This record gives sequence, structure tokens and C-alpha cells, in this order.
Amino acid sequence: MELKTNLKKIAKSKLSDVDFDNLPFGRVFSDHMLVMTYENGQWDEGIIQPYEALSITPAMMTLHYGQAIFEGMKANKDADGNVLMFRPELNVRRFNKSAERMCMPTVPEDVFLEKLQELLYLDSDWIPRDEGAALYIRPFMFGSDPYIGVKPSKTFHFIIFTCPVGPYYANPVSVYVEDHYVRAVDGGTGFTKAAGNYGGALYPAKLAQEKGYDQVLWTDANEHKYVQEIGTMNVFFVIDDVVITPDLNDCILPGTTRQSVIELFKDQGVKVEERPLSIDEIFEAHKNGKLQDCFGSGTAAAIIPIKSLGTNTEKIELPPVEERTYSKQMKERLIGMKLGKVEDKFNWVRKIAIPQAAGENTSDS
Ligand SMILES: *Cc1c(COP(=O)(O)O)cnc(C)c1O
Repeated sequence: MELKTNLKKIAKSKLSDVDFDNLPFGRVFSDHMLVMTYENGQWDEGIIQPYEALSITPAMMTLHYGQAIFEGMKANKDADGNVLMFRPELNVRRFNKSAERMCMPTVPEDVFLEKLQELLYLDSDWIPRDEGAALYIRPFMFGSDPYIGVKPSKTFHFIIFTCPVGPYYANPVSVYVEDHYVRAVDGGTGFTKAAGNYGGALYPAKLAQEKGYDQVLWTDANEHKYVQEIGTMNVFFVIDDVVITPDLNDCILPGTTRQSVIELFKDQGVKVEERPLSIDEIFEAHKNGKLQDCFGSGTAAAIIPIKSLGTNTEKIELPPVEERTYSKQMKERLIGMKLGKVEDKFNWVRKIAIPQAAGENTSDS
């Protein structure tokens, strides 16, 4: 691949300092990052430069008013050393929807994807090859005007950096059904990856952890009756051999994994329903022995089985993870596709060929 973006290469790669057998999530950063700036109504050419600290003014608007959005994607390598991305265009479109909702400029889809590919090409040696590991990609944008006053910024930074990561959650999680705090409301920003959504969720998550749970299962703000999402994952229930997930609205983040899970189940002939699903229906199904599976879906974790669900009055244990055919098979199929091991019949996987000189011990020509 010919790199078109301005490049300032790192003097000495940090790669040899990294212990790939013990990768914490999100604490190790690859050599380079892409930085583009928006000024006078347009994006500059951007530069790929060493990952390093930014210089910011204390008056930078984002620090005060939260005009910030992000994305989360992953890259893997196939057996030949090619870099694989999974449906990256869905992330780019979602990023631009988040941008619109937050009064921020969009990044043209082709520019976003091209720059990302160049960054991955340059830092392809940072992509871990171990089972469950990946290169996590973090694109984000924030308003950078030095200005005190609530209005949209006029200048913005768009940055992409990457982190080699090990598996996100190793174990099935227990979730607390939230009946007071809310993550998203009709008319709000729940359908975007706006930074503030996550800051506001920290306190309820902390309280749930103090009660002995791993995550919060969010419910609707009006009645706390219908399920929305778990932490930063979409949620699926399997009742009587029907896969059910909340339908998309202002309160649900339209996950790439969610979309793929729905399409793959349908492809397998499984009945999928996107509709409002109440806590009562879930607990009733469990009582009648019809709740077969429950799992969260997201890029960071792929598929994570939920082991128990608790409210402030009762707690139910779900079937043992080994007996859950739905989540288990879906996880294998999804991960297999991302690694180029399972047939990609919908053409979801984008491949960047890495020549021998740039890849580590690859055998392709
Ligand atoms: C990112 C995210 C998801 C998962 O989206 P994917 O595209 O599948 O990674 C789900 N819910 C929330 C709140 C998120 O931030």
C-alpha cells in the first residue's frame, strides 16, 4: 500500500517493550496515531505521527461542555498475515451520526477508511495473533476551541490511535437490573457514542458493583420496565428458541455486533425479534423454564454470556454457559469470521494485504 498521508515516523518503535502474553485492555498504545484538524469549515490533510501527548488549553471547550464522540473497532490478522477489519463502514457511518447529533463536522467515509487503513498498515506488527486478542482501534473527535460559553466549537480534532489488547472479559457476567438511574432517554443521546453517556453511567455501575454485580442492565427511563442495554453492550435474550433484542430507538446504541448477530441468526433460520422486551417477560420465561440464553454483544467483548440477573427483590441464575448453544455458536462464528477462518458469505471482512517486508514472518508474497 502506498501511504498518502503526511507521515512523521517514530524514531524507535516501542514494540519490543510490549509483553504480548500479558496484554491489559486499553493500556498499551501502538507507535503511531492519525491526527486531523478541522478549521474554517474544513478538514486538513491530516498527519500520521508518533503516539504522544497533546498540548491543550485549559479553556478547551470539550473539557467543559463535553462535545466529544468516539468509536471502537478491532483489527485482526488472518493466517497469511493480512490485516482484517470487520464491517468498518458501519462504524464510520455511526461516528458521523454521533457527530451530527453533537453539532460536530462529519468525516467523509472514504477519507476515514483510507487513513485508518494506512495507520493499520504502518503499525500492522502491533496486531496480536493470540486467540481472543486483537488490535483495538479508537477513533474519536472533540471540539478544541479555547472558549468559555456553551455553543458548538468551531475547531475540532479527529484522532485515531490503536491498542493491542487481550480478551476483554474472560468470564460470564452478572448484571443488576437498574430501577432508578438511567443511561438514555427518548430524545437524548443514547444512540450515539457521545462521551457524556459514559461519564454519567459510572456512578450507577459503581453502585451495582458494590451490590456484587459486574454490570448494569439499563431499563427505560419512563417505567424501568423494558430492557435497553448492558454496560457498553447490546443485549440478547433467547426465549423458547426465539432470539429477542430491544428494537432500535434513541436509547439504544446501534451496535455493529448487534446488527451482525441478528443477520447471522436469521441466516441460520433462527427466528429473531427486535421489539420492546420487559423484565417481567424475562423473569416469567425463566420461571417457566423457557429462558435459554442471555448475552451481551459488542466489539470489545464480541459475545459475553450473562450468568445471572438481579433486581432489588430477586435474582435469577441462567443456564450453565456450556449448555447455551445460541451464544456459544454465535461467538465462534463471529470470531471465526473476524480471523478469516469462517466463510464470510456477506462480504463483511475488509482485507489489507501486508507485504512480507512490513509483516512479521508472513509467508504471503
Ligand atoms: C459501543 C457500544 C455498543 C456495542 O457496539 P458495537 O458496534 O457492537 O461494538 C453497545 N452499547 C453501547 C452503549 C456502546 O457504547
